[in-house]
Amino acid sequence: MTTLRDYSQGAAFVRGQYVPIGEAAIPITDWGFLRSDAAYDVVTVWDGSFFRLDAHLDRFARSCARFRLDPGLAPAQITSVLAQCVRLSGLQSAYVEMVTTRGQPPWGSRDPRLAVNQFCAFAVPYVWIANAEQREKGLNLIVSRVQRIPATSVDPRAKNYHWNDLTMGLLGALDAGGDTVVLTDSAGHAVEGPGFNLFCVNAQGVLVTPQDGVLEGITRRTVIEIAQARGLPLQLRALPAGELRGAREVFVTSSAGGVLPVTRVDGVPVGSGAPGPITRQLGQTYWDWHRDPRYSLAVDSVPAVDVPDAVAAGA
Ligand code: PLP
Repeated sequence: MTTLRDYSQGAAFVRGQYVPIGEAAIPITDWGFLRSDAAYDVVTVWDGSFFRLDAHLDRFARSCARFRLDPGLAPAQITSVLAQCVRLSGLQSAYVEMVTTRGQPPWGSRDPRLAVNQFCAFAVPYVWIANAEQREKGLNLIVSRVQRIPATSVDPRAKNYHWNDLTMGLLGALDAGGDTVVLTDSAGHAVEGPGFNLFCVNAQGVLVTPQDGVLEGITRRTVIEIAQARGLPLQLRALPAGELRGAREVFVTSSAGGVLPVTRVDGVPVGSGAPGPITRQLGQTYWDWHRDPRYSLAVDSVPAVDVPDAVAAGA
């Protein structure tokens, strides 16, 4: 008797097979697990359509190249795999992750060049980095003394799992009664947080977002493009923590939630203490752009493309 598999909690593609998310596993000896040796990306599906999939695929390719990883699949094949994960799950709004891990070198070897890289992917229900109340009232953001891993050690433009700085910073922020955290660099500039980029509308009314030492978020890019289209004054540059504390508005950006207001920094109200008008407008336009055909691709319109067996098996 065959039992139908339940993909309702999500679906994954691992070693060439589609499996329910709860059954998806990689070998314990994969350096993706043992060394955080992997590159990944996350694209979202909203109302049945991918948002800016091309931008995510481009960034994924660049992340893999920076870490000398090869997913072994062309963008059209990756697109087909992601769409199939979403279709199997039946989700209309989803968080869709693609990963290349190092794999493992032959036993006895520690030469990463000999490892066979592995591609996997999964779709799960859409993830918000802030709950409904936080999205409405705004987050309390703690500026941490934990320093973000320097770009000269791990390139933050390559989306990666070197999250210990972010996780330790987040634990400290939660202990301090905050909702989330932003890390700083060696010069005390605010950079980014666990899964998001940072913006403020400074005391002069200029929209500022850190330029270096951060992942070039696709939501950040969307906000930059909206700001440019509206002619808002905008600067991409280092953001001193003091300037952040004196800002009129602060918000964070992520594929997991869009534009999320910050209404307290270290417990101190930002401006009036309520989400600001520029934050709200940018957030509204961000969601409006999800219906713009320039940026959306219906999951159902994605053709099935064969994934060669050799790649699927990681041979
Ligand atoms: N910064 C870091 C460290 C992240 O992990 C993420 C997303 O996960 C972001 C920024 C935001 O990027 P995006 O807008 O592409 O989701």
